[in-house]
Amino acid sequence: MLIAGISGANICDECAEQANNIIKENLRFKASQELDLTEIPKPIEIRAFLDQYVIGQENAKKTLSVAVYNHYKRLTQKVEDDVEIEKSNIIMVGATGTGKTLLAKTVAKLLKVPFAIVDATVLTEAGYVGEDIESILTRLLQAADYDVEKAQKGIVFIDEIDKIARKGDNPSITRDVSGEGVQQGLLKLLEGSIVNVPPQGGRKHPDQKMIAVDTKNILFICGGAFDGIEQRIAHRLNTKVMGYAASKLKNAVDMNNLMQYITPKDLKSFGLIPEIIGRLPLLCYLEQLDRTALRNILTEPKNSIIKQYIKIFKMDNVVLKFNDDVLEYIVDTALEFKLGARGLRSIVENIMLDIMYETPSTDKKKVTITLEYAKERLKNANFDRLREA
Ligand code: ADP
Repeated sequence: MLIAGISGANICDECAEQANNIIKENLRFKASQELDLTEIPKPIEIRAFLDQYVIGQENAKKTLSVAVYNHYKRLTQKVEDDVEIEKSNIIMVGATGTGKTLLAKTVAKLLKVPFAIVDATVLTEAGYVGEDIESILTRLLQAADYDVEKAQKGIVFIDEIDKIARKGDNPSITRDVSGEGVQQGLLKLLEGSIVNVPPQGGRKHPDQKMIAVDTKNILFICGGAFDGIEQRIAHRLNTKVMGYAASKLKNAVDMNNLMQYITPKDLKSFGLIPEIIGRLPLLCYLEQLDRTALRNILTEPKNSIIKQYIKIFKMDNVVLKFNDDVLEYIVDTALEFKLGARGLRSIVENIMLDIMYETPSTDKKKVTITLEYAKERLKNANFDRLREA
């Protein structure tokens, strides 16, 4: 097919398609080369975005907002003077279910760079059963559609970093293949080096061609529960000061929220090696979720659990309503059985199962969940199972 142009020249369909591909390829290349700082959200805007999805966690939100913004700045910096902005990787410490992964995922939604979430528990030293450390970058490459340029500007969230803490104080007794060895391996990635990455990950494809990835500009965000770290903080706070000064300080220390006093020293006493801690200069913490926070999590976030259920019913043209005392009861149950924010969903799920099963086959246009109904549904629920969920 020939398409006529205004100047009398013609182009055939094949050439048009080819030209289109060249343009697309070029634009893609340009997009991966350039980031426009004017389009990048400012820290306060990033924070406002996080607020729509995550309840509380002031400290972590602020740290993340600034870190992500600076990450973009570093990517767009021109090397015209001797000042080179170096990256500041982040470590988030907070009990499980307080929103670490949620924060990371929400940041990812906003980002214009590739983002990958990986779990540190599966990592082992090369040569042992488990995944090599390089597999972290495989994920990032996949998130970047194997565009190495793009991947090299990406962000990686490494979850459960506390699980690779050194086991015990004497590392020489047994080989610690999933602890200190992994930390040593991780160090290479964090500080910036060229790493050969298996594009398919794993060791199942021994002859796959490696891809060289430079980690200099990749931002790493680590997260971990560090179970028991509060006792270490308390211990440190108690032993440091004695006598008159101690009595004064003790009054000032908020024993209910010890996490706010966390320092790199506490991470070290937990079993992270100093080199790793040094490569994670931004340390932030997440607070335990109290009653008010749990209540807000149910209904306030943009895609809160309750909003999701209302939507499910709306798709069948049914108006779903939860009485207020039901919401309070859900929170009370989560607190009573120590289910945390994760438990909220399984509690609601248990309450809603029967009604979700039956309603679509009826011609009901309105469903209201009452306290009496909710209690009845949960009477036989297995909370041990909920806790595991
Ligand atoms: P963590 O990574 O700290 O173990 P997650 O981020 O996976 O915890 O949280 C588990 C779930 O609990 C989330 O998917 C979310 O529904 C809920 N949740 C936890 N913390 C918050 C929070 N601060 N704001 C809103 N929802 C939260």
